[in-house]
Amino acid sequence: MRRLTFLLFPLVLVACSADFLRVQPAEEWSPDSGDFQVDAVAFQDISRAVGKAARAECLRQSKVSNCDFTILVDLNPRAPVNAFQTLDKQDQPVIIFTRSMIQSAKNPDELAFVMAHETAHHVLGHIARQTEIAQESAAIFNDLGKLYGEDGKELERSQKLGAEVGVQVNVKDFELEADQLGTIITHNAGYDPLVGAKYFDRLPDPGDEFLGTHPPNAERVQIVVETARQLGLTE
Ligand SMILES: [Zn+2]
Repeated sequence: MRRLTFLLFPLVLVACSADFLRVQPAEEWSPDSGDFQVDAVAFQDISRAVGKAARAECLRQSKVSNCDFTILVDLNPRAPVNAFQTLDKQDQPVIIFTRSMIQSAKNPDELAFVMAHETAHHVLGHIARQTEIAQESAAIFNDLGKLYGEDGKELERSQKLGAEVGVQVNVKDFELEADQLGTIITHNAGYDPLVGAKYFDRLPDPGDEFLGTHPPNAERVQIVVETARQLGLTE
């Protein structure tokens, strides 16, 4: 595992290193306790089906050239509920589910939806775009800072704030885009995105704070329902 870029689900954006992670391929994973509503066989099926559907969509959209997804499980029982992504040594996408993330799902559709959402971030090239936006925003705030005569520490603070504001504002759009494409990938993988998106109901609602990293849950559900309607899944 070379690097762990961004933690995109469910709440925060954090850069960290994956070197300390103890992981296992999803297709080999089986829980050591019975405390799961989705069993190991179902999870292996989800990983295979979503990985395949995501690869097909990735090749079709061809926004990025690396489309071979690997799904891993973070075996640390104390890791918080999360799913995130990184790249392997060959620059291929890797999606990592924590054990507690798998445990928190009520049915296979929810896990398929979260997995499809993560793969969608990669298919849509969000990581690279996020880095660009951070750089652009930092530059804009830098110019503003200079205009108002800031120097040294003040200017540095403006650049940093600029990068954060730029990333957070755009992260909300990225999340909705990933929900939309995630709905399609979930459906193509043979799972029900409308059942899967019920997972949002159990997430704390970030509301619409300006600097919140995620859009309000209602907005996310709305885009899933709208996309499902376009797929002919509802009236
Ligand atoms: Zn996301």
